[in-house]
Amino acid sequence: MTNTSLLNVALRYKAIYLPVERKNISKNIELTEPVIAFCSELNKVGYAVNEELLHALTHISPEDLKEITGVINEVYGVELNWTPLVKHWDIPTGESRLDHILTFFANVIGLNETHCPGVTLPCGHFIPEGTFPIERYNGCPFCGTPFETNNFVYTGQGSTLRDLRLFTDEDMEETLKALLESPVPLDATQMDNLNILINNYTLPEDIDIPMKENLVAVVKMFVGENKAEKAAPLFKSPVDIMRYLWFCKTGLYQIVEPKILIRNAYNANAHMWRPASNSRNAAEEKKKELKLKYTRAECHMVAVWMNSLHLEPEECCEQMNSKREMWVRFIRALRLGEYSRKKGFEYLKNVLNIFYNKEYYTWAGAVNSAKKEGNIDLMYSTLKRRPGSFARQLFSIMLNFDAWRAISEFSEVAHLVAPRLLVSLINNADAYFSKENMHRIVRPITGCSKVIDKNPLIAHKTYEELKSMIIDVNQIFELMARRKFEKQKVDPTKNKIYIDDALMNIPLSVGDRSATVQDASCAPMGMRFKVEGDTVRLFMQWGKGLSARHLDMDLSCKVFFDDKNTVAETCSYFNLTCTGCKHSGDIQYIPDEVGTAEYIEIDLNELQKRNAKYVMFTCNAYSCGTICPNLVVGWMNSENPMKVSEKTGVAYDPSCVQHMVRISESNLSKGIVFGLLDVTAREIIWLEMPFMGQTIDSSSIDSVKLLLDRLSAKTTIGKMLKIKAEVQSLIIVDEPELADEKYTYEWALQPELVSKLLLS
Ligand SMILES: [Zn+2]
Repeated sequence: MTNTSLLNVALRYKAIYLPVERKNISKNIELTEPVIAFCSELNKVGYAVNEELLHALTHISPEDLKEITGVINEVYGVELNWTPLVKHWDIPTGESRLDHILTFFANVIGLNETHCPGVTLPCGHFIPEGTFPIERYNGCPFCGTPFETNNFVYTGQGSTLRDLRLFTDEDMEETLKALLESPVPLDATQMDNLNILINNYTLPEDIDIPMKENLVAVVKMFVGENKAEKAAPLFKSPVDIMRYLWFCKTGLYQIVEPKILIRNAYNANAHMWRPASNSRNAAEEKKKELKLKYTRAECHMVAVWMNSLHLEPEECCEQMNSKREMWVRFIRALRLGEYSRKKGFEYLKNVLNIFYNKEYYTWAGAVNSAKKEGNIDLMYSTLKRRPGSFARQLFSIMLNFDAWRAISEFSEVAHLVAPRLLVSLINNADAYFSKENMHRIVRPITGCSKVIDKNPLIAHKTYEELKSMIIDVNQIFELMARRKFEKQKVDPTKNKIYIDDALMNIPLSVGDRSATVQDASCAPMGMRFKVEGDTVRLFMQWGKGLSARHLDMDLSCKVFFDDKNTVAETCSYFNLTCTGCKHSGDIQYIPDEVGTAEYIEIDLNELQKRNAKYVMFTCNAYSCGTICPNLVVGWMNSENPMKVSEKTGVAYDPSCVQHMVRISESNLSKGIVFGLLDVTAREIIWLEMPFMGQTIDSSSIDSVKLLLDRLSAKTTIGKMLKIKAEVQSLIIVDEPELADEKYTYEWALQPELVSKLLLS
């Protein structure tokens, strides 16, 4: 096989890509030895193949089979170093703060073997006898430098095999189409899939691309192939063009203003210990990095794009207005003024004139002046001209003006609003209008969640008023959903529908942008995983492909004992054991190329005995800067006991991995909460909540609980399917085999199919 990236894409959909055609797959060929060997290799890492895939594999050469195993092993990091700091770390070393203090003083006064018993390690640190039990460590317990690496991992301890199916070129083309047509923003995993597929398959003809981020990927592909002119007709607005240009500069699919990026670089490089802080330099660097500089060819390309927009020049200017300062810089750097004086660029000239003389109307300005003048009729008629923007302001309009009128005015245009916007309205209504908590959680563009104060007007409303606001918002949404399902054609002879119970708990995602890539799944945020055994083992591996250096990433967890979450214990580098949790030791330096690992073992029986409620999983960067790209975190569990090596401490087994994520290049945060264990329910909720802080203490359970509340208030995939069944008079059946339409748990793992059915 020539292109292994297609194998990566398929694996995320629990499939193997093979360059075969379904009609040519023979079911009569006997299984060859290489195929049998291949399947047993897969078993070891926790996979089994379904029947169709098994037959298809007989058409593949042994070399190609090897290549597939190679890709799967790479995804699971099988060849990397999984050695933690402590050998047999499930038995705590009992190291104490005193050990650290004694060792610190011994090194400050320059003690070594000639003065007292002890040992000097390769890193230069002298460990006096009677402090750390040095025979238990693979590295220096004092500075966290590892001296030993291994290329060993356990295999085959997992209690369930995950089924793999076949993906052909046809499936890939369908996936590409579904991704491009997605009515909601793609998460980092889907975006990576899109970028890979778009470079391997031809773009479907006459395709409509509703999400602007996806447009960026398509434009990037055209520019890469020197076909920039083909991108011109795709741009619907000058903002699309800026989005592409800014993506090239920052790698971000959304337009984040320079001052925010510079402030973020400053914050991410702050250190608790002042002299180690690198904030000022990092901010300067960022500033330099964001300076705009373009070649002649690039200037020409953008001038042509701008000149071919099909908008009235005034409208074009209005759309440029919200990022006016950035446009001024872009226009200068791209020498658009110069181009506008050339023949054939009359449209561009017109736009620039109007833009510089500010001879354009702005919708936001019109709404504000109507509000100020108290002209409510004019305000509503202006709002209704932009239904999407009306939707974004709906809650605050409801609070500030007559809520009933706001809702009825909005319902007149609600059918023109993108369904994803309506879903996000109902998803947020509970949190926005509730009096319980005067804070709410928002995820600003740089990715770090923030808890902000609510609109103070909430305090002046009665519970009944607020409750009816929530009900009103929900009703609009249900009405629109019903209308949409009514319009779909149903074949009356195929009216049996199966809806997996698990879908009742999976929130309908409307594009919660994420900073992690899932290489072995596409689970939507809020997905719940049942714990299979009595232990959950967290793992983190980082530093792959990097030379040896100081790079301190930390894996931690926090146990909460009561519902108010005031009592908590932390298991982290500064406290290696706490109730129900054991840490494998703090590594601060990475070895050359192969990376390093930390683990935490969580004992559910112990936690239950001590009445623990939740355990929150986090990883964060102690070093300056954000969490390093390609760091992998996740958790394992199995009904079978999972080994910890006595000799090395290695405790990783790909077949036990239930969920893992990789930090993507576009991550801007210092820490991420990546899961929450509900101890009584024995379930792990996968969530991704970034925070800015060097240690686990910078993340608060309150914001996690707010996020959980928000997730549980979300409309679920199951709820939407039930509405569909009701509106279309479908009969709900209990077995998928009896159904004409099947909506299984596996189906929900292909988020683009879910959003296509329910949101487009
Ligand atoms: Zn040391």
